[in-house]
Amino acid sequence: AEPENQINVIFLPFPAPGHMIPMVDTARIFAKHGVSVTIITTPANASTFQKAIDTDFNSGYNITTRVLPFPAAELGLPQGLENAKDATARETIGKLRLGILMIKDQIELLFQELHPDCLVTDMLHPWTVESAAKLGIPRLYYYSSSYFSTCAKYSILKHNPHQGLLSHTHSFTIPELPHNIQMTPLQLEPWLRTQSSATEFFEAVYESESRSYGALYNDFCELEGDYEKLYKSTVGKSWSVGPVSAWVNKDDERKSNRGHTEDLAQEPEWLNWLNSKQDESVLYVSFGSLTRFSHSQLVELAHGLDQSGHSFIWVIRKNDESEKGESFVEEFEEKMKESKKGYIIWNWAPQLLILEHPAIAGFLTHCGWNSILESVSAGLPMITWPTYAEQFYNEKLIVEVLKIGVPVGAKENKWAGMEDCADVGREEIANAVVHLMEKEESREMRSRTRKLSDAAKKSIEKGGSSYCNLMQLLEELKSLKIAIHRPLK
Ligand code: UDP
Repeated sequence: AEPENQINVIFLPFPAPGHMIPMVDTARIFAKHGVSVTIITTPANASTFQKAIDTDFNSGYNITTRVLPFPAAELGLPQGLENAKDATARETIGKLRLGILMIKDQIELLFQELHPDCLVTDMLHPWTVESAAKLGIPRLYYYSSSYFSTCAKYSILKHNPHQGLLSHTHSFTIPELPHNIQMTPLQLEPWLRTQSSATEFFEAVYESESRSYGALYNDFCELEGDYEKLYKSTVGKSWSVGPVSAWVNKDDERKSNRGHTEDLAQEPEWLNWLNSKQDESVLYVSFGSLTRFSHSQLVELAHGLDQSGHSFIWVIRKNDESEKGESFVEEFEEKMKESKKGYIIWNWAPQLLILEHPAIAGFLTHCGWNSILESVSAGLPMITWPTYAEQFYNEKLIVEVLKIGVPVGAKENKWAGMEDCADVGREEIANAVVHLMEKEESREMRSRTRKLSDAAKKSIEKGGSSYCNLMQLLEELKSLKIAIHRPLK
């Protein structure tokens, strides 16, 4: 029998890279601190991190994956694409949620078989609150985004400050936040603006957050402590255990292939290209795993980067509107090769490795939380270009609260690329790049970001804030286990 103080935790991620990557990192951190860990996932997702788990297991850590088949055919999806990294991810994300619901019974059978002491499940699995209740164990709600975004959203849901405005472009103040933050209705998630089935789903998600034992945030208190406090006083218990990418990837080979199935070449071409550049002279441009731009928007972005006069490395997803085969981007790539000004990486980049290269000076980002934390950890200020979900709140945190970024001027929260239009013009893009890469003003941003980067590194070291939070959580889970198995008379 396992010792009384050994805890057994199941992690159930959501199958999209921005959810999967930080949760797998977190699971590995738990295992490295003595927890027995099982990650439940599907074949295409397991293939993106199985090697790292095997390495951990062979080093003596108690960590395994359990892989369940994904009902792709029933959902009309191609087999093996349920990791949301491919073509139609934008349209398939809802189907991925349905697919997991279809295998819910099998997942719950695994829960019973494995006798966990705690479930850590993605925010998008609200039904796991009931699973945990049936097993009589705590469920931790997992969210890899900011406390700021949660606090802002809960305030808007409670007070509806956007109702009654004459236009979608008029701004309102978000009530009850420590800072005066203005937004427009257009920057809110579409389900918050107009009632839809997504509204009901997210209501269930937030209700499940309040009914969970607590929440795990990929965050560190030196970054947005005011909002962490606000969350704890208005929503409930939570633990910040991040930045998990900095923690688990300190000396980790997975830096090069996280979220990716193939290994990197020894001396990849992008590395030679970056090595040929001066320190702090290159902008990294990437929009995470799901954002797709329209052809017109890609054209504006290409011209904007070119006009800025600065060097850049740009990740373009295959199957964007303007695929590699399409002549504009191909010609642009050729032109950039000749001038040596720009380097294009197709599809998937080793983001952590690129961000820590000395030639990189800043990050043009869609404000996905993982990208933000990775940029902060690397000490890089940002150009913010939010596209959907909670990214517009994250932009406010970066630009107005932390003052470590320049906004590009994105105005509307929507799945980008749905229609062929460009929301942000080349002039705006070029101006933002020049501002970040040249102006005196960015010097202060740079020094603020460096301080946060130091704080991020300290937070995960012994005695640091995230380190202590993790230890405290594990102790709490151990005493809960003892209390559950040997109830006090
Ligand atoms: N990522 C990567 N290479 C890419 C694109 C993304 O390694 O080409 C990783 C990135 O480092 C981050 C995650 O995928 O850890 C994306 O998460 P984020 O929250 O930034 O955005 P999302 O994909 O959820 O919109």
